[in-house]
Amino acid sequence: MPDIKCNVTECNYNNDVKCNAPMIQVNRNHSSKSATSDETKCETFRPAES
Ligand code: SF4
Repeated sequence: MPDIKCNVTECNYNNDVKCNAPMIQVNRNHSSKSATSDETKCETFRPAES
């Protein structure tokens, strides 16, 4: 798994602005054919346990 930098520090898998999940699932976001990164989303996101 390559290093994934991720600024979503409120995600349970985030550690020091990097993704620690063993794999991630990225899907299209409100689009049938994404044209920009805004039209993708990380499905693996989980809220951090507090
Ligand atoms: S699971 Fe997705 S949102 Fe969470 S740290 Fe990894 S890349 Fe970021």
